[in-house]
Amino acid sequence: MVPRSHRSLSWKRKRMVTFFVIAKVHGATVLGVEGFLIDVEVDISRGLPGFEIVGLPDVAVRESRQRVRAAMKNSGFGFPMQRLTVNLAPADLRKSGPAFDLAIALGILAASGTLNPDLLSGVLILGELSLDGSVRGVAGVLPMLMAAAEAGVPRALVPADNEEEAALVDTIEVGIVKHLLDAAAMLEGRSPLVRPRPRDFDLEIEVDRDLAEVRGQFTAKRALEIAAAGRHNLLLMGPPGCGKTLLARCLPGILPPLSFTEAMEVAKIYSIAKGCRAPLRLSRRRPFRSPHHSSTVAGLIGGGANPEPGEVTLAHHGVLFLDEVGEFRRTVLDVLRQPLEDGRVSLVRHGYSITYPARCQLVLAANPCPCGFFGSSAKDCLCTGGELASYRRRLSGPLLDRIDLQVWMDRLPAHEYDFPAEPSAAVRERVAKAWEHLRAIEEGQLVIEIAPDAQAVLAQAVEKFKLSVRAVDRIQRVARTIAVLAGSGRIETRHLAEALTYRLSL
Ligand SMILES: [Zn+2]
Repeated sequence: MVPRSHRSLSWKRKRMVTFFVIAKVHGATVLGVEGFLIDVEVDISRGLPGFEIVGLPDVAVRESRQRVRAAMKNSGFGFPMQRLTVNLAPADLRKSGPAFDLAIALGILAASGTLNPDLLSGVLILGELSLDGSVRGVAGVLPMLMAAAEAGVPRALVPADNEEEAALVDTIEVGIVKHLLDAAAMLEGRSPLVRPRPRDFDLEIEVDRDLAEVRGQFTAKRALEIAAAGRHNLLLMGPPGCGKTLLARCLPGILPPLSFTEAMEVAKIYSIAKGCRAPLRLSRRRPFRSPHHSSTVAGLIGGGANPEPGEVTLAHHGVLFLDEVGEFRRTVLDVLRQPLEDGRVSLVRHGYSITYPARCQLVLAANPCPCGFFGSSAKDCLCTGGELASYRRRLSGPLLDRIDLQVWMDRLPAHEYDFPAEPSAAVRERVAKAWEHLRAIEEGQLVIEIAPDAQAVLAQAVEKFKLSVRAVDRIQRVARTIAVLAGSGRIETRHLAEALTYRLSL
């Protein structure tokens, strides 16, 4: 006696051999910031008309059925009145988004005999379909094309909306499509592949704000340069209107430009971020993100039902600026600690985990007190002792412990207006030199020692200010950056003394 399940299996196998027509198309999906190739298999068999998508699709993929059906009908292809099964493989990888529409539609055309199935081999097909058959842009085209290029897929069809980012992958032959009919015509060779124009890697670095605009504020500018040289986190504290935001905006302009690899990593992130659908171009400019203080945890570190990268990831290789940091919710600030330490964000959603890169430099700006004028020469502070204490408590905590440089800014004294300010480009040159030097130290090609008398000063400071091990480590790292900026082969007392001044007693 054969068990029932076995009987039904052998029957299904038999039927498959007799009736199934299978077409196979390359699609792709994104997990975290990486693209993955997906086989879209379309089976048409006799039976009650139906249309099913299997293989761990999310809601957007399942809704593909309605769009594909309407798009095919409205493009004049008709829709097979048979039993239709679309399998997305491998089955254990979660598929998200509407990027499979075009691949499914072309797979159906091949499986139903309208299109030669051989034309689909070696072509990655991406695009969302509108009901009228036009092809819409999708998120994540860059990482998906990169995955295809790595797997040796020679060609791809990409929506016209994603033309700019498709041009960034030059090892793959890309056809730009606007409509389901274009895609079919291109595959059949009836219309030529419209290739995207390759773009040059932007050699000019546009600067958002230039340090030449910032008059005076020598201490704060010096701290900004040290922060840039050592990629240290920085806190700017001072009354409203003293120029904290302007100074923070100058930071990306004094950092060395992105390398090609870094620029591609940044472009991949912006390719998957649905909130940033502006045409993607490869830029050497480092990202600068300035989320509002009402931001949520998901907004800052990423998340949501369909996970999206947060601000800390959008600032990867660049700067994350939190203005009025005292206004952010404490819970929101606390979750930033781990990503800043690890340089990445790990999220678990529906039983699978994703990782986003988050190697960014943090700049915080804060008023010294609720009214904003504590310690300022501009106005008297009107806060009570209680208000001051509770404000300080809000500011201190695990995040502030990770700030290497803290600097006080006041309204500009009149005599500082007359000094000419150095442009960002000049500062950037010094910072670039320091980066090279610090890299050599980190890679062990260079050694930088601390002078014995500097060591003694540090020991005194530990005693006097009751510094924690972490605080000492941070002071030493800042002193090292200062020594490197000065071109010194040794951390001297003056470097250490300057590092000690960038600690406000909070
Ligand atoms: Zn006050």
